[in-house]
Amino acid sequence: MGIVVQKYGGSSVADADGIKRVAQRIVATKKSGKDVVVVVSAMGDHTDELRDLAQQVSPLPPPRELDMLLTAGERISMALVAMAIANLGQAARSFTGSQAGVITDSVHGRAKIIDITPGRIQRAIDEGHIAIVAGFQGVSQDTKDITTLGRGASDTTAVALAAALEAEVCEIYSDVDGVFTADPRIVPTARKLEQVSAEVMLEMAASGAKILHLRCVEYARRYNIPIHVRSSFSQKQGTWIVPEAKVGSMEQAIIAGVAHDRSEAKITVVAVPDKVGEAARIFETLADAQINLDMIVQNVSAAATNLTDISFTLPREDGQSAMAALARIKDGVGYDSLLYDDQIGKVSLIGAGMRSHPGITARFFAALASAGVNIEMISTSEIRISVIVDEADVDEAVAATHTAFELDSHEVEAVVYGGTGR
Ligand code: ASP
Ligand code: MG
Repeated sequence: MGIVVQKYGGSSVADADGIKRVAQRIVATKKSGKDVVVVVSAMGDHTDELRDLAQQVSPLPPPRELDMLLTAGERISMALVAMAIANLGQAARSFTGSQAGVITDSVHGRAKIIDITPGRIQRAIDEGHIAIVAGFQGVSQDTKDITTLGRGASDTTAVALAAALEAEVCEIYSDVDGVFTADPRIVPTARKLEQVSAEVMLEMAASGAKILHLRCVEYARRYNIPIHVRSSFSQKQGTWIVPEAKVGSMEQAIIAGVAHDRSEAKITVVAVPDKVGEAARIFETLADAQINLDMIVQNVSAAATNLTDISFTLPREDGQSAMAALARIKDGVGYDSLLYDDQIGKVSLIGAGMRSHPGITARFFAALASAGVNIEMISTSEIRISVIVDEADVDEAVAATHTAFELDSHEVEAVVYGGTGR
């Protein structure tokens, strides 16, 4: 019997009715002859609420305790889903991440999965039970402490379990019908994509399309797990994320969509002496502080002064620690000052084979220009062009680009059932 892994996001299990509705769906899948493993997120905005609560008792909660607190959210929903299934006459058993064998490193708040040992899940399945697993959490191999895998990481729990259990598909349920050519909350005429290659989806997720957690897409690609992104509020087919080879007619459908991201900030290191080793020093310092950078731009140095500016973008939440780390090397590097800007947004056009179609870049920039949007930074890859713009211009830039590439649908296809996209 094939195994199906189903992951339900917070909006799908937001209240008792939602949990009962999801339970019906799980039981129907089981009755269709599949073994079902379910991964759940915390109910609604519960994770945010727990975070706020932590802030109220401590401005800097110890990471170990924060993880202990946040993982409680998923334990609540997993038990309730198991109860609702039991109420429908099916046997179900819930498991924490640790019980499900999700073994991680010991970095609280953003632990990485290093192994999955799903013996208890396999046994539950073998006994005809439905296994419900708490998403977004694991246990550290070294310290045996409870860890979380990062915000939104229940998707990654689901795909990792699907890989370990050799499931036939991993279904990711949220409150939208699939992956759209743009965020339907900004572009109501966005179109649903039937299929997306894992490679393109990876770029979309990395560029801010929040429908899937980035690491889950990486995992799915590595282990060849097909993902079906769909809504738990409808029976419609969603979007299939499939290996490259299975996506047909690559040459005609180049553009997959427009993604945006408002979670980044920009730092400029002003007047860095233009000599060998300075950039290395700056970026080593940031690496030591565990900061992931996105775009990096170094300007041509002014001939008269031999000084250059280096700008880069990074997650906003890391902004203050990056500024502090750079301040410590000010004299060593000899730069003049630091500028910090968190009123920025990134807009990315994504699709296969862009580099071989230079007209696409021109059309993208023309669309931004006619929408009156100023570009602050640019970066490109084989399948993506991204620009940094003023945060206030993001919606306009997304809509203008979407229209310029004729992605708009004639009717409104997208329904955001719950309103959060989780
Ligand atoms: N509940 C966690 C979060 O809100 C994990 C998830 O939903 O995937 O980030
Ligand atoms: Mg999510």
